[in-house]
Amino acid sequence: MSDSPLAPDTIAAIATPPGRGAVALLRVSGPGAFDVLRRVASVDGLAPRVQRLAALRHPESGELLDQALVTVFPSPASYTGEDIVEISTHGGVLTPQLVLDALLAAGARAAEPGEFTRRAYLNGKLDLLQAEAVADLVDGRSRALHRAAVHQMERGLSRRIHDLRAAIIHAESLIAYSIDFPEEDEPPVPPERIHAAVGEVLARIDALLATAPEGELLREGALTVLAGRPNSGKSSLFNALLGAERAIVTEIPGTTRDALEAQASVDGYPFRLVDTAGLRETMDRVEGIGIEFARRYLAAADLVLFCVEAGRALQEDERAFLRDRDPDRTLVVRTKADLLGEGMEASEDGETGLTSGLRSIPVAAVEGTGISELRATLLRMAFGHVLADPGEAPVVTRERHARALRRARDELAEFLSALAERVPMEFAATHLRAAAGSLEDLVGAVTVDDVLDRVFGDFCVGK
Ligand code: GDP
Repeated sequence: MSDSPLAPDTIAAIATPPGRGAVALLRVSGPGAFDVLRRVASVDGLAPRVQRLAALRHPESGELLDQALVTVFPSPASYTGEDIVEISTHGGVLTPQLVLDALLAAGARAAEPGEFTRRAYLNGKLDLLQAEAVADLVDGRSRALHRAAVHQMERGLSRRIHDLRAAIIHAESLIAYSIDFPEEDEPPVPPERIHAAVGEVLARIDALLATAPEGELLREGALTVLAGRPNSGKSSLFNALLGAERAIVTEIPGTTRDALEAQASVDGYPFRLVDTAGLRETMDRVEGIGIEFARRYLAAADLVLFCVEAGRALQEDERAFLRDRDPDRTLVVRTKADLLGEGMEASEDGETGLTSGLRSIPVAAVEGTGISELRATLLRMAFGHVLADPGEAPVVTRERHARALRRARDELAEFLSALAERVPMEFAATHLRAAAGSLEDLVGAVTVDDVLDRVFGDFCVGK
């Protein structure tokens, strides 16, 4: 989309999803919004932000289309900052579409996906981070992402970024002071003070960046792969973990046998559970498509649940598998614990050859014992950092954010080493400018069209 923001036309869309429903919402935004409304309804003297029942008619045929509630939001106090008309029609497939056709016949143009929010951004009603939060609110499937998005709508991350940028600009001004007034009575600002100020900003950016891996997981769900020998209890565990929350279970395309992926939620945090026959192949056979498939999944896995029957000594292939695994991402599940005698649980790992450093947890999937402990452990392993800060701390949930923060961070680090190497301040300060610029990109102070296309391209129409 390359419309000039200087000459916006008037756009219209159905904002609610199609299908049977009590009500549908249509929106019109742009300088001609009120003219468009007048061509489909008699609504003279309509007060701003007050709903009025009106008969809607096609502007050409005069055909009566619906009795609907109409609200006008004059510029600039509207979502987009432009004149907006909202029309609540009866729901269903046909009525909203007929009303939209009438609005288009009355002079509006069909909106592109995300175009309303794009206009809100261009008119300064939202910054780019808030616009992305709108998309997350619409798309978000987990409560945790929803929470992060609501917080961001309130400018949580934006505020933090503005503070960081202000701190960098303050450091720049200290340097300018030293450069511009070298002969002042007051001594120039000591470099240690500048060093300390920039170092503090750098530490704050690092703290934000530390949430990025989990922020990404909030969006995607933590990929949790169940591995282990045949009959070790993977499928039973898969089903027990899904339990009542069993959502969508799909066969993973490209696999020949019963590889399954399901979305699960633990306390509102999203997980993608994978039970794959391909993993069986790695244990059983030396070659075959199963190996490649399983390897790809294991390489991408955020967590691996390795299933071994409780009380059974690990086989050589199992030990080999576990030897190279990251203990922070691998959990040994001692399955079928109900078949064990009393008192045999935790103590037997030494005898059964479990690699030290790996956590293990006993579970009896059939009875459901140990499942809630397992879920709590998974939650801690995948989302420990986010959980540790249950307050309103902003979370970096997009790669775009992480990239901009990393760029800013690297520039600050370069500034500090330039300072240590006694590079003249005015040269070193270019890194501060670059760091501030990177933060400006993040909130969208200055953006190029292709960034906007990427941000708004994923939106639904009418948003
Ligand atoms: P997979 O091949 O690794 O997916 O293993 P399955 O989940 O299919 O389980 C293999 C066998 O072990 C099946 O007969 C299950 O009924 C049994 N099994 C699985 N979990 C338990 C459990 O917690 N307790 C008992 N007693 N049997 C189990």
